[in-house]
Amino acid sequence: MKVELAEVYGFCPGVRRAVEMVEAYLQEKGPLATLGAIVHNAQVVEELAQKGARVVEDLAEVGEGAVAITAHGVGPEVFEEIRRRGLSLVDTTCPIVRRAQEAARDLAEEGFFILIYGEEAHPEVRGLLSWTRGRGRATLNPAEVQEIEGNRLALISQTTKGRQEFWSFVAEVVGRLSPRLREVRGLDTTCPETGRRYQAVKELSKKVEALVVVGSRNSANTRKLAEVARQTGLPTFHIERAEELRPEWFRGVGRVGVTAGASTPDALVREVVDRLHQLGGDP
Ligand code: SF4
Repeated sequence: MKVELAEVYGFCPGVRRAVEMVEAYLQEKGPLATLGAIVHNAQVVEELAQKGARVVEDLAEVGEGAVAITAHGVGPEVFEEIRRRGLSLVDTTCPIVRRAQEAARDLAEEGFFILIYGEEAHPEVRGLLSWTRGRGRATLNPAEVQEIEGNRLALISQTTKGRQEFWSFVAEVVGRLSPRLREVRGLDTTCPETGRRYQAVKELSKKVEALVVVGSRNSANTRKLAEVARQTGLPTFHIERAEELRPEWFRGVGRVGVTAGASTPDALVREVVDRLHQLGGDP
């Protein structure tokens, strides 16, 4: 059995940067708190915890010292509270998310109502909504948008959504509301990284007979990647760690493909590849 890796897999640049910033702080200055898990991967969170990074859900839990904001970013009121509490800030907001936040803020200041194509409960979307200072809402369902405040509408996207889906959403919303709109702006704030992983697993599926997707089950992007892998029609196994691999899954399989979500560290992928080799692959 041969083991093939997808051309693009694992940590995206934004998550890699966030982990590296937290690690650098731990090494140079000591322990800190992170507002939410820095990455949706239990193993990475555990490793960072051993080095002194504890996860808090609320700034009130920090007490004193430093707090890190995750790559998903936060709203302006969180920065204000960090300042008010006198905490040091390690801001790992991904630059691509930051651009979306700036767009939300600037367009709202220009008087647009901001419609975000995204999941309302997702931390990144909650942050984006805060930057609109009450002049926005988020949804994935264009039929839900019956009316907006005023007649100037700007549409942006949660960064991890597909570009095509975003523009279809824009077309449908504008089609519904157009009789009442005076001005419309659509800004593609999607991140190419997620799409690159989906494309790579589709390419990989042409060369293998089974697929293994590595990453947390609570990571939305890894679950979506597993779904894309399944849609190729190949037997697909979504695992969190190498020990979950079962020899019977690969009976009669000559080539197996491996990919990983944007929150999965390289070390975990290497363990999976090694284990697959032990199960009968070529080293
Ligand atoms: S998926 Fe894109 S926007 Fe999100 S953290 Fe990674 S690089 Fe940044």
